Amino acid sequence: MTPAIVILGQGSLATARTIQQVYPHALIHGLVGRVAGADRGYSEFGATLRELYQQGSPIIALCAAGIVIRTLAPLLLEKGAEPAVLAVAEDGSAVVPLLGGLGGVNVMAREIAAALGTAAAVTTSGELRFGTCLLNPPSGYQLADLELGKRFVSDLLAGESVRIEGAAPWLDQANLPQDQQARLTIHVGNAERAPAANELLIYPQNVWVTCRPGAQLAARVKDALQQDGIAMQCLACLLADDADMADPQLHAAAQALGVPLRFAALAGEQAADIVINSSPEPVQLSQIGRCRGRLAVIGLGPGAAELMVPAVKAELARCNDVLGYETYVRMAGPFRADQVQHCTDNREEMQRARHAFELAAQGRSVVVVSSGDPGVFAMAAAVLEALHESSDPAWHRVDLEILPGVSASLATAAQAGAPLGHDFCVMSLSDNLKPWSIIEKRLDLASQADLALAFYNPISRSRPWQLGRALEIVAQHRTQATPVVLGRDIGRPGQTLRTTTLGELTTDQVDMRTMVLIGSSTTCVFPRNGGGDWVYTPRWYGEKPVS
Ligand code: SAH
Repeated sequence: MTPAIVILGQGSLATARTIQQVYPHALIHGLVGRVAGADRGYSEFGATLRELYQQGSPIIALCAAGIVIRTLAPLLLEKGAEPAVLAVAEDGSAVVPLLGGLGGVNVMAREIAAALGTAAAVTTSGELRFGTCLLNPPSGYQLADLELGKRFVSDLLAGESVRIEGAAPWLDQANLPQDQQARLTIHVGNAERAPAANELLIYPQNVWVTCRPGAQLAARVKDALQQDGIAMQCLACLLADDADMADPQLHAAAQALGVPLRFAALAGEQAADIVINSSPEPVQLSQIGRCRGRLAVIGLGPGAAELMVPAVKAELARCNDVLGYETYVRMAGPFRADQVQHCTDNREEMQRARHAFELAAQGRSVVVVSSGDPGVFAMAAAVLEALHESSDPAWHRVDLEILPGVSASLATAAQAGAPLGHDFCVMSLSDNLKPWSIIEKRLDLASQADLALAFYNPISRSRPWQLGRALEIVAQHRTQATPVVLGRDIGRPGQTLRTTTLGELTTDQVDMRTMVLIGSSTTCVFPRNGGGDWVYTPRWYGEKPVS
């Protein structure tokens, strides 16, 4: 997994950039207000570090080891996979691996130290003696039993020699006391065998199973492996036919077995129920078919990073392609060099949606960005429309997901208080895709129904008079004193929030970057300590309940 580099001050940026050359995909997270020019900004060190740790992201923190220890201490008692965590001195003079011995922290410490021209403060005895962590074999290999492994390494440290059975190319560079007569053995092979105390059993992941969807698939794969005497840990992936890409039984089986699913056009014998395949070396996934393509339609929220949901952040980190209106793609960045950005004009929505499916159908992981929520006057409906119109089976097999965001009306309402605290109506005043007459009708009925109103796309250069007409219709049902909230560029640099009334509102106070919220007959305003107002619409209607 790609590490996160976290820095607290401007003075660490140069060291962070040097470390980034070792991990080109890693992003530098800088404290907002203290660090200019980081890849990502954060405002709370503790919360950021803990969030990264809980996501399993390796962490390289450029600060005192003590700060990192104290910050993560509350999480350390929880069991679970431990990502690599390192503290690096701000000036790059010291590299201290702290956590994640089995997550390869010492390997990282050495890599970073080499880049910084210093030595890693490795304290793991086995690692120091043999130059490698025997309990952390390279990817493609798995240790059979960690507890037995620990005992094995202590025996080795006590001075015993060792015999290697099977192919373990990475151990050739280690300083192991090898002896063909040794009692201790490192055994590498895919045959299932009972773990023994004098043996370090390492399974190569060199097996894949071709299969078809069907009931009890996971159990049947397990049985088949068992019959052939192959250890479960050696299974690298399941391979199925392209046509079954979206099949839930296949996905459930892969999940139950804890392996990825790959797809290819399988024919004849290959498409038989369950076929076990193996290769001498661990399987390179990229050489076994391809993965199911994914298309995520995501909402960035109004703009501020804190208001972006974690699922969206994770999706942006994993995707291969990003599509969207240029402004939003820029807002979603920065992206790594290997992530392809496809910027388009704001109006080419259907074309963009189709392009997204074409890419995802090739097996890529694609993100389509919208601001706010993708389902609110944005890309999600366009993407579904494109899919609905398509008869291409490859498009319908794509793993499609819509990930929500904080919509501008909700972000603006939250800043003003709770103007949408009761029933409300959301409308776009744009007549680009609907006749103006239906907008007038809806405005009239919603105003009559005494719903609070939230207007998206209130005005633009090509639609100069529509907002004025809309306000006239509202005013037929609401008093001049009705509270109005105007939020402009909410959650973005230079945001403004103002409270006014329906009587005082003029269209020149509004532009296309503004959200207009109009209260109902019950919406209240009162002064806020520190300036400005609180605006809210009570939860009740009619008579106030006795509390
Ligand atoms: N999907 C978006 C809305 C897109 S329509 C969402 O859920 O927020 C575009 C309109 O949304 C703009 O004309 C403006 O009225 C409103 N808008 C979007 N972002 C905004 C922001 N940060 N502040 C105020 N209004 C915003």
